[in-house]
Order: sequence, then C-alpha cells, then structure tokens
Amino acid sequence: MGGENHCGTGPRSDYPIRAPKPVGQYISQIYKSRIGQFYAKGQYANENLLSMMNDAVVYGEPHVQLWVWHAPGQTRPTFKEAVSHEFEKTKVGASFGPSWTTHWFRVKITVPDNVRDKELVEFHWDANNEGLIWSEDGKPLQGLTGGGERVEWVLPKSFLDGKEHTFYVEMACNGMFGIGQGDLIAAPDPNRYYSVERANIVAVNPDARGLHIDTWIIGDAAKEFPSDSAEQHQALEVYNRIIETFEPGNKDSLKACRKIAQEYLGPNVDSHKVYESDKKPLVFGIGHCHIDSCWLWPFDETKRKVARSWSNQCNLMERYPELNFACSQAQQYKWLKELYPYVFERVKQKVKDGQFHPIGGSWVEHDTNLPSGESLVRQFVYGQRFFEENFGKRCQTFWLPDTFGYSSQLPQLCRLAGMTRFLTQKLSWNNINKFPHTTFNWVALDGSQVVCHMPPAETYTAEAHFGDVKRSMSQHKSLDQDSTSLLVFGKGDGGGGPTWQHLEKLRRARGISDTVGLLPRVHMGNSVDDFFDNLEAKGDKLVTWYGELYFELHRGTYTTQSNNKRNNRRAEDALRAVELLATIASIEGLCAYPKKEIDEMWESVLLCQFHDCLPGSSIEMCYHDSDEIYKKVFKTAEKILREASGLRETTANAVTSSTGVAFNSLPWSRHEIVELSDGELAVASGPGPFMKLRPFSLKSEETLVTLEQPSPDVFVLQNTQLKVKLENGLITSLYDLKANREIIPKGQKANQYVIFDDKPLYWQAWDVEVFHLDSRKELSTVETKVHEQKKHRVSVITKTKISDKSYIETVISLSAGSPGQQSYVEVSSKVEWHETMKFLKVEFPVDVRNTEASYETQFGIVRRPTHYNTSWDMAKFEVCSHRFADLSEHGYGVSILNDCKYGFATSGNLMRLSLLRSSKAPDAHADMGTHNIRWAILPHQGGLGHVTVRKGYEFNNPLKILEVGELGDVRSCFQTRRVWLESESDPAIVLDTIKRGEDDEKKGEESVILRMYDSLGGLARGRVKSVWELKRVTKVNLLEDEISEVEVGGDGGFDVELRPFEVATFKLELE
Ligand SMILES: [Zn+2]
Repeated sequence: MGGENHCGTGPRSDYPIRAPKPVGQYISQIYKSRIGQFYAKGQYANENLLSMMNDAVVYGEPHVQLWVWHAPGQTRPTFKEAVSHEFEKTKVGASFGPSWTTHWFRVKITVPDNVRDKELVEFHWDANNEGLIWSEDGKPLQGLTGGGERVEWVLPKSFLDGKEHTFYVEMACNGMFGIGQGDLIAAPDPNRYYSVERANIVAVNPDARGLHIDTWIIGDAAKEFPSDSAEQHQALEVYNRIIETFEPGNKDSLKACRKIAQEYLGPNVDSHKVYESDKKPLVFGIGHCHIDSCWLWPFDETKRKVARSWSNQCNLMERYPELNFACSQAQQYKWLKELYPYVFERVKQKVKDGQFHPIGGSWVEHDTNLPSGESLVRQFVYGQRFFEENFGKRCQTFWLPDTFGYSSQLPQLCRLAGMTRFLTQKLSWNNINKFPHTTFNWVALDGSQVVCHMPPAETYTAEAHFGDVKRSMSQHKSLDQDSTSLLVFGKGDGGGGPTWQHLEKLRRARGISDTVGLLPRVHMGNSVDDFFDNLEAKGDKLVTWYGELYFELHRGTYTTQSNNKRNNRRAEDALRAVELLATIASIEGLCAYPKKEIDEMWESVLLCQFHDCLPGSSIEMCYHDSDEIYKKVFKTAEKILREASGLRETTANAVTSSTGVAFNSLPWSRHEIVELSDGELAVASGPGPFMKLRPFSLKSEETLVTLEQPSPDVFVLQNTQLKVKLENGLITSLYDLKANREIIPKGQKANQYVIFDDKPLYWQAWDVEVFHLDSRKELSTVETKVHEQKKHRVSVITKTKISDKSYIETVISLSAGSPGQQSYVEVSSKVEWHETMKFLKVEFPVDVRNTEASYETQFGIVRRPTHYNTSWDMAKFEVCSHRFADLSEHGYGVSILNDCKYGFATSGNLMRLSLLRSSKAPDAHADMGTHNIRWAILPHQGGLGHVTVRKGYEFNNPLKILEVGELGDVRSCFQTRRVWLESESDPAIVLDTIKRGEDDEKKGEESVILRMYDSLGGLARGRVKSVWELKRVTKVNLLEDEISEVEVGGDGGFDVELRPFEVATFKLELE
C-alpha cells in the first residue's frame, strides 16, 4: 500500500500535488465575441463552418437552363396564359423590371450524377424579390422570398434520376415588404429592377446544417442567459469546445461537434420527438404568417402572397409534423379557393389533419376603431360562415395581432359570434404607458367578457430565436394568475410564415429546457384553442380590463386617407338602406332578395376595412383599388334601390312635390322641409321609408329663420331656438333661446380652423404625436358674405386661406326650427388641400364643464377624460369618434356631429374635430385635392340622450329625393311601416338593421332579422310590431343561431328588454 501522492494519515487521494500548468479563466466578453466567427462571412469564411455547408453546388448550363417571358405592363396572368407564350433564353445575372411587373421563367434542370445520391438536394433561387415555383403541369408548389429569406426548394426525389426536368418560376418585381424608395414606408420606387443572383442545384451537408442551428442556439444561450447563471457559463464552454473540435474539410469533425452540442441540447433535437418528454411546457409555439391584405403592395399582390406562403406551410408540415400553423382572414382563403384551387385543396387536407388552423372568425383582420357596429357584425358573419362552409367549423378565437386599438364592444360581439377568446399584441407598441397584463378577461360595455392573451414575446412575427422563448417568460405580466404563453412565430406582414430554421431552432430551445433547464419550456403540436382551453379553466382568477383597449400610437389613422373613410361611412349607410328596402320588397313579393349582390357589396366593404386600408396606412395603389371597389358598391346599391322600390333617382330640380318622394332609411319617422328646386319647398313626412311630399308655404309676413348683417363683418342668424353671431366668419356667440344660455365662452370663437405641424417620430400616415399640439396656429378668414336667405334656411359663406395653394370655403347655415326637434348649426366645408405634413382641425370652445367627454362608438358610447391628470389620460390626446362627440354637464350639453370624420379631441372645454392630414409616406399624395366635409353644432338641454344619437344618424342619412315616374305612386308597402318599435318604446333603443335571414334562400324560408341596441347605457324596454304575420320569433346571436324563443302577443307584437349597451338580434319567421 502507499504511493507518492499519499501523504500523512488522512484519506488517500490521487489528486496531483503540484499544478502541472497555469489554467486561465474565460475572459467572458472575448469568448462571447468569438461566437459569431464560427458561421460568419468574411475573412474566416473558408475556414469556418460556412465552408462545409454544401457538398456540391451546380449552376449554369447544361445543368440549369433558363428561359423567360415578360408579362405585359403590370398584369398578373395565370399559369395557363403565361406558359402559352413564346419564352426567350436568359441567364443568371440578367435583370428584370420595372417595379410591379411579372416575369415567368421556364427552368430546365438536370441533376448531375455526383449529386443524385445525396441525402438532401435543393434548388436555390434568389432574385431579391418574390417568386412562386410551379410544376410543369401548372401546380403552385412553393413560394420564394429573395435576399436569403426563403430561397430553397427541396427537389422532388423524381428529379434525381439524371434526366432533364422542367418547372416554372413566377417572378414578382417587388420585395416581401413592397418597394419603398430608400425606406420601408417611403412611397414605392416605380423603377426597381431585379437580377437573378442564384439558380443553383445544391447538395446540402446535413451535419453542417444541423451544427449551424445547434451553435446558433447555444451561442444565444451563452450571450443571453444571465451571467450569474451556471447555464450561461456552460453554454459558453460547450460552444468553445465545439469551435476547437471543428476541422475544416473533415466531415467526422462535424459529427464530433454535434455530439458535444448534445451535452447542452440533449439527444433528440433532430426530430419532433424532442417534444415528447413529459415535462410541463409553458410556452406554446404556433406558426403564423401575417399577410396584410394590402399595405405596401396592392390587393392583387396579396392574392399571390397567400398562395406562396401557404404552399410553403403545407410543404413544411410534411417535413415537420410538430408544426401547427394558424392563419386568419376568410377573404384570403376565398382568394386561394378561387385562384389556386390546388393549394386550397392542400390546405383543406392539412386542416383535416389538424395542422393548419383557420382562425379569427372574421372576413379580414380589420380595423376596429372606424367600422360601424354592423360592419363589425358582418366581419364575423361573413368570416364564420366561410370557415364553417369550407372547413366544417367556426373559429373560437378572434385574432387581431396587428390592428390599431380595440373597440369597447368587441367582447360582446365576439361572444355573440361564437368566440370566447381574443388575441392581440399591438398594445406592446404603446409609446406612453405599458399595458399591465398578458392574460386577462376583457370586458365590453355591456359586461360581456372574453379571455384575452397578448403574447409576451411582443410580436406576431417572432423569428423563434432563443430570446423570443426567453421573453415569453421574462416579459409575462400575468404570472400571478398563469405562467403559460403563446409564441406566435413565422415571417410576416408581407406573408411567408415559418421557415425550416424556425422549426429547427425551437426543437433546440426545447432540448435546452429539458437538458440544462432555465429556458421556459417551449412546446409544439398544440393549437391556439388548446392553449385557450387551459386559460378558460382558470378564467375566474384572471384580472379584468373594462372598456376599450386604447392603442397609444397610430392616432393619425382616425384621419388619414379621408376620402376612403368617407366612402366607408357612405357604403355602410347605403347597405343599411339596401337591406331595408330589399327585405320589404322581397317579403311583399315585388322582387327576389338580391342576396348574392348584397354579399358581394358587404365582402367589398369588409375588405376595405382591412387594418392598413381603412386606417389610411397603405400605398397609393391600394386607394386607387378601393376607390374602384366602392364605386362598384355604390352602383349596385343604386341598382337595388331602384329595382326594389320601382323608383328612379333624380336630381331634386326635376321633381315637384307631386312627382317626388323622400326616402328615409332610418327606423323612426321624420318630418323635414326639403328643397326641390330653387324656390320650391316641400314637407316630407310619413311613417314608411318613402315619405310623400306636400308643398310648403308660408304667409308672406311669417319668418322661421332670419339673417341680419348689423355691420360689414357681423352676421346674425336666428330661428326660434338658436341665435348665432358670426364675426369675421367665426362664431362668437351661440345663444340657446329656450335654455336661455350662451354656449360659446366669452371672448372665444367656435368653428375656428387651426393647423398643426404634423411630423411624427416615424410612422407618418399612422401617427400624430403629442408634440403636434404645441404648434397650433389659427387660420383667419379672408371674407364672409351672405350665401342663402331662404324661408327655411339662411347661410353665410366664408373663405379661409390655409396657404398659397390651399383654402377652405365654408357655408354656415341655420335652418328653420321644427317644434319638438332640436335645432343645430350646420357647417358644410369644401377644402382645397395641398399641404405637406400639416394637420387641419376645427375647434369649438363650449361653456360646458366635465372631466369626461362622450364619443359615439359601435353600438354605444365611450367616455374619455378631458384632462391630462395621468399619463394614461394624456395618452388619449386624440381619440376615435363616430357620428358624434359630446360634452355635457348636469342638465346641458353640446354635441358635435359629423358626416365622414373619425378623429376628435376634447381638452378641457375645447372640442376639436380632426379634418385632414397630409402625410407623405407610404402614399406621397395622401389626401391631396378637394374634400367636402359636413359637421354641426348641436346644443341640447339635458345630458347626452337619444336626441344626439338620432341627429347623428339623420345628419349622415339626409332624406333622398326620388321620382315616382311611370309607377304613378309609391307602392303602398313602402308608405307605411312594416316592422317597427312602438312609440312607447325607450328611445334609447336603435333598430339599426333590418335584413333577411342569412339562410332564407338556402332553406327556402321567409324570415326577417332585426338588430337593435341600447345606445345610451341603461336598461331599455320596447315593443316590436309588424304588419307581417309572425309564425315564431327567436332571439338569436349574430350568426343567427337561436338563443331563446320570444313570446309573440295577440297583437302580433313582442317585447324586448336590453341590458345597458346590449346588442340584440331577433329572427322573425313569417307565416
Ligand atoms: Zn398588419
């Protein structure tokens, strides 16, 4: 026994007595900096891992031969048409363009013998733009995005036979994010050319590719794990050992390196089996591909993006069985179905297999600030019906990751459309306050709730990096209630979706969690619904958020692209009128219900509500498209209106009170003076949608409204209710004669135009930033004169200079007051607008005090602060409003009505309507030209009530004069009410929509759908009556599923009772 290392009487040890050599510590920052070198271009590229990525790269003739055909202009021909043309020879390096053109390539390849037996052979195509590979017989196979984003197409095994094979590449001369000139959001460069940089047959070295992803993730762990964790130091040590083991050119060394990587990643990262450990995951990865339906490219390009992106996903699902992919927007599925049936069938199969998940339940990922309540309803009706018809089921999750703020009634509408969940993440872009929750219950105005989750990685286009997985825990704000989260990954905005790199990285992230720990455990294979199922089980513990999810950014989108917003408002009103008339006409047997045309109109309007279209953040081309879309909608509306009514439209001058009628699309009767021709006035009144006219006459001495000019610059307009004083074109006094009070504070001026510098931090079309308020300048009026002095109306016209190029003509009118009706001051402006980065608004200081103002929103009212107490209050310096904004104190208030605007602000007692912006990106000509805008100042006794709500509707739906023509008279069914709310009903109830049942045609039924809501926020009761005999009445949801049966009384009527701000839909089945 014994030995030289043993000394003394203690325990024996072989531990060397003398240190054999000095050993140093890793100098952390140097060893970390070295990480990037292992896979970097540049001076070490021939000596590092890059040098071994491919076993062979074959290019040029005879193995790769190219021909091309150029599609004329900006056309996007079909495969069939394209390949019918003569192709000419071309080669790598040749250049194609200009922007937005399409070029079809015929590619013939012969895989050489030394490549044929390789494990993984790909075709790499990179032209720095977008492309789609088609088979020789016209099947779209795989999308391509240049610039290295997605350039590989795995060659089918059948191509590895040494023979020549043909396929096509459809090249689009635009990038994934359009063609911004020098900047992402700059207006498109009209003259961009693209050259084919690569058309290679590549035999990939799978070990090198695997090692690259291994070291990518281990390197990230070494850089991003906290330096006080053992796991970080271990990652750094493993990574450096891999570098030392690697020998350029030695394939065995790749295997040895990968073996070392397994110490950190575990043994299973080369397959989906890595996810089969039974440890509890916290982060649920879901593949996604955000495709903006238009944005920095037009709608037509999106149609191709869908085919490119989703065929890629189908391919990937075959290679990566763990991939679960969710995609929204029924419209995009419909495009695919119509234009790319082969890809649609593949998608359908993947839906059946449970990997491809249609999600969202809406027609497009729409804006939710600007569309009307009924538009939001139809987004769900058209969305859910499409998903159900094509995939056999509806969606459970409303999916709007990128929309610019979320209206307070969405939870109610979601619940009524069969959805209990909501996903977004956009509030992570707030630039003032951090939203405090990740997972919570979101509560609507009526108290309805949905479970909301905002992925803590704070993106819907995660690259599936180590950091994304890490942030899914470190940025989670609801850990007290639940620590799970969704990781929504995949290239997006311009389409794309996950790549094989994303899936490989996530496998390794899971491997790290199971092997060394610390990283939250990511899981693949679940759907979004699986994730929410778990949350719903804990629903009662989740914190609540009541009311709108106000987005503290992109406030300019309430105003940008003014014409488009006006078209939206007009189209929504036109559709209400069309559905009302077509319902009556079809039930009365006058014509068939034009369901197909109405569906087409709605689908068009819903498409234009896409979250970059209606908000105004798209390029100019998109607005040329939407102008055409709306034009068609209005044309169809006129056609249906004429067909249903039998009447023809006319100019007011051509009719008299005996040949004309007035059309009222609103659910209450109106009594108004209308002007038929110069001098001829008529009174329109009656219960039905078509009101007869009778001549209006006054005794000569009688005056209902007067206009006086006491001095050259002063005008006084007065009726029985209001007295308006204008000085230098501005309202210096508005006196309510009934309430005996002045509305304009002493020394202040209403209808004052103001202009602001409007240069936000970056997102021009999107943002107006808080500092713009500091640049306020008043515009002064050049001249004012009398415009009209009629028995029923008086007005003055003023001219306001904005600049040498821009001016405003404003007509300020006061009409005769009708007994029982609240009078208002009407303003009609024509703005000639040619400004750069300026914001035009109009102000109304009012002598009313409240810390909150009210704004009309979809199916209700939202209240917001008029002060800047906290940063949350201040953040709402510009807000969204529909037909009215209102500032009321106890007993009195003032509403500002508008006919096409959405931006508003109330600061103290100053109400300010936003009129026009002039952003130059991404549309260099946004809002340039002529604009006609109307608004009104409506003072009212009492608080905000039904008077304002109804005036808002009426102001947007002026009576329309039609000519009876050869019919001789209006059909009687239109002169009386068919279905209505009895007069004792609470006037807060608005019967907003009357339409036929969605399935009437299909099921051969005759039913009428009524949608009403409580507009003021209190319990509201009413009684519905109809001249039609009702077989059965049910309360239904938005999708017209029965909720409960409603008792019909002996008089054929039924009672309704609405919760505060409830949206209630009834289905009336007719005898
Ligand atoms: Zn988007």
